[in-house]
Parts: sequence; C-alpha cells; structure tokens
Amino acid sequence: AKAQGRGNYQFYSEEMNARTLDRLTLESGLRHAIERGELQLMYQPQIDLASGAVIGAEALLRWRQGGGQLVMPDAFIAIAEETGLIVPIGEWVLRTACAQHVAWQRAGLPELRVAVNLSARQFRQPGMDAMVARVLAETGCHASALELEITESVLMDRPDSAAQTLQRLSEMGVLLAIDDFGTGYSSLSYLKRFPINALKIDRSFVRDIPADADDSAIAGAVIALAHSMGLTVVAEGVETPQQRDFLRQLHCDQAQGYLFSEPVSAATLAGMLRRA
Ligand code: C2E
Ligand code: CA
Ligand code: CA
Ligand code: CA
Repeated sequence: AKAQGRGNYQFYSEEMNARTLDRLTLESGLRHAIERGELQLMYQPQIDLASGAVIGAEALLRWRQGGGQLVMPDAFIAIAEETGLIVPIGEWVLRTACAQHVAWQRAGLPELRVAVNLSARQFRQPGMDAMVARVLAETGCHASALELEITESVLMDRPDSAAQTLQRLSEMGVLLAIDDFGTGYSSLSYLKRFPINALKIDRSFVRDIPADADDSAIAGAVIALAHSMGLTVVAEGVETPQQRDFLRQLHCDQAQGYLFSEPVSAATLAGMLRRA
C-alpha cells in the first residue's frame, strides 16, 4: 500500500508539472497571440423567434495557434483573466466585432447588432467605458448596434461601481445583457437596480424543455417576469424544433443555438444573410 501511495504521489506530481507547463505555454503563447494575428472571432446568429429573422450575432473568440491548433475560449479565457491579458484581448475583440458590424453594413446587409462578451476583470478595469466609447468612435460603429454581455457575478461583486459603469454605457446608447442568467444568485428584482436591456436564459434551463416540468416552469416564469420589467429575453443553446416552438409559445423574444446555426465566420454569416 505504501509503495502504491508513493506511486500515486509521483503520478500526481508529474500531472501537476504537466499542467503547470501547459499553463505557462498557454500564457506565453497568449501574450503574443494578438500581434501574431492568431485570434479570430466567430459569430453565432441570434434569431427573432416571432419572424425567424437573424437580428444579431454574438462574437465568440477562437485562438488559432501558430501550429494551426484551434483553442476554444474555455481553455484560455480563465488564464487571460488571471494574467490580465484579457484587457488587451477584450479590447481587440470589441474593436474587431465593431469593425465587422460596420463592414456588414457597408456590404448592404440588413442591420445586424453585434453582441460582445465582457469578462469581470475587463468590466472592472478603470476607464472601461471610455475604452468602449473610443472603439465605437474609431470604428464608426453606432452604440445602439453593440450589445455587451456581462454575467450576474459582475453585478453581485461590487454593485455600486458596477451600476455606475453600466449607467455610463447605457447613456452612450450601448445595449446591456445579462449572460447565463439563472446560474448566479441574483434575482430579477435585484436586476432592477441596473440599466439592463436583455436577459440571456442559460443553456442549462433550455436543455430539457419542454419535457422537464420544472425547467419549463422556470423558463416561463423568467420570461414573464423579464417582460414585466421591460427586458428582452434571449434563450441560449436551442438545439431542437421542440425547444424553439415551446419558447415561442412562452413569447421568448430571441434564440440562439445549434438548431439555427453554430458560430460561423463573418463571411459565412454574410452569405447566410444574403441568401435569406
Ligand atoms: P457564452 O457566452 O455562454 O457563449 C455561448 C457558448 O455556447 C459558446 O461556446 C457557443 O459556441 C456555445 N453554443 C452555442 N449554441 C449552442 C448549442 O445549441 N448547444 C451547445 N451545447 N452549445 C452552444 P464557446 O464559443 O466555446 O464559448 C464559451 C464561453 O467562452 C462563452 O460562453 C463565454 O463565456 C466565453 N467567451 C467566448 N468569447 C469570449 C470573449 O470574446 N470574451 C470573453 N470575456 N469571453 C468569451
Ligand atoms: Ca455570451
Ligand atoms: Ca451564455
Ligand atoms: Ca456560458
């Protein structure tokens, strides 16, 4: 048993070294990712459930490493947050998405709002709202064409300073959405303190509707309450026609998910809209 214990110890420490190495490799690679042009945005269409029209697109970050390997955000966003690299990376994402909106408009496509994810660290960065204003001015993107997605945790942590930042963004005309709604601990009444435009119902509540009675009731209640507060509701992770139809019955405003499209390149999305 002792020998096995030592063996285990060795196993774990090797695994830890591998993980630390992995992390350092990721971190140093990430430091150069912007300048080397390795970051890319994919866009997932957001559908108006009543009309079926594509009305927006969420920008989702991808990292195409030098060797060609594609790294998904769940593998590097946390490291980017911890190291602070999320600040320049997030600004790159915002600038690229805003420039893309303008390019789509110039190409004669129907008005397409862009949604950009903001991490907590980025949101708390002093001068964040001024950065957004600068990027909008530099790219020529209208504020009302931009939606910023933040999570409940951003609001819960430092509510007073969050409220001030959101107020300034809202006054600029930028739309604000709560991402992954339902996974944090905030309530809809709490959200009243903030100038929020939209709620995105987390995928975990959408997955088992309409079969699961509890999730169906939660989805219905969130949609009704959100509407009573004047908020737009977006359902995430819609994968089946049954989910779509049920959400439509509940008067959910918009939906996103593999049923409609996975995240695609800007060129592919433009092609989809031209054919529509
Ligand atoms: P999120 O903001 O909740 O984005 C939705 C995620 O769900 C995306 O994963 C998307 O590809 C995936 N998804 C969309 N439709 C479906 C569906 O029908 N079924 C399933 N199972 N999944 C679906 P992705 O692109 O891997 O992004 C993961 C997370 O990484 C995002 O979650 C977001 O929190 C973060 N992220 C992505 N891009 C950025 C960024 O530019 N900045 C920051 N700060 N975070 C980002
Ligand atoms: Ca999001
Ligand atoms: Ca989400
Ligand atoms: Ca998520």
